[in-house]
Amino acid sequence: MEDLIVLENVTKRYGKITALNDVSLKVKKGEIMAIVGPNGAGKSTLIKVSLGLLRKDRGTVLIFNKDPFYDPSAREKIGVIFERPSLPVSMPIIEFLSHVSKIYNKDFNTIKEVIDLVGLKGSENKAFSQLSAGQRQRAAIAHALIAEPEIIIADEPTSNLDPVERNKILDLFLKINKERDLTIIISSHVLPEVLRVSSKITIMKSGKILKVGEPDDIVKNISISRIRCKDPFAIKDFLEKNGFSLNIEGGNIYVKTEDSEKTSKLLNLISEIVKKGQQIYGIELIEPGIEEILEG
Ligand code: ADP
Repeated sequence: MEDLIVLENVTKRYGKITALNDVSLKVKKGEIMAIVGPNGAGKSTLIKVSLGLLRKDRGTVLIFNKDPFYDPSAREKIGVIFERPSLPVSMPIIEFLSHVSKIYNKDFNTIKEVIDLVGLKGSENKAFSQLSAGQRQRAAIAHALIAEPEIIIADEPTSNLDPVERNKILDLFLKINKERDLTIIISSHVLPEVLRVSSKITIMKSGKILKVGEPDDIVKNISISRIRCKDPFAIKDFLEKNGFSLNIEGGNIYVKTEDSEKTSKLLNLISEIVKKGQQIYGIELIEPGIEEILEG
């Protein structure tokens, strides 16, 4: 597949802060690439430099084989979505999208299709200020789609939303990727939520790319087990004596295992504990977060 975005050895400094440190990354046509890292990792800077909105200090940035800082036409086929979209507050969404469609020479059908696609049908006559946070994000996605871009870049599009809306917006990106064959880049500081929807994940920390891979490669065999039980401290001692390191939070025990062998050993030990009469209410495997991946 064709590389639509290429960054090679890119460095970007803000005074003494190195926000991007020798970063290389390729985004292929059709991918949903998640850029994941804690706050301050350099995700927004990576996006702004990729769009040519900020000048890099070193390295190469190419979108559709053009450097977007010197040739803004490289950005023409890209729709951008930010964490807190700001569209005209009192204009009905449909009216706003009609104005936008005229700029791009698109007809009314394009607007209707886009409103349908993003799930705003029935709310299109509401003003931006009357929409919920999730609907505002949908309106921003509709705005980006009117121009019929080839790439959508979304900088932390879910961080202002509640968990249900977060998942719905991520599902919408997945749908857009499938139905419109759009390449999508999403930044996030929450790894588990993007594991489900992305085809590739880039993990960043302190301006560096630490890992790039498919979701399964990134998570590998790392598992976090949450054990709910009557007496976490009694079980803690037993597991620690058997070589496990763990945390107790809110009465639950969290155990990280790095491979499937250790996970099965943990499960065997838990069944031993139960046989000895300890009460276990439940055990769940939960998706690892960025911290566990970075430590792992
Ligand atoms: P993220 O999006 O992952 O939170 P950013 O790209 O916003 O990370 O920031 C990366 C680093 O660059 C941080 O240390 C941040 O404080 C710094 N930074 C970002 N923007 C500026 C700026 N305009 N001026 C100075 N420092 C900045």
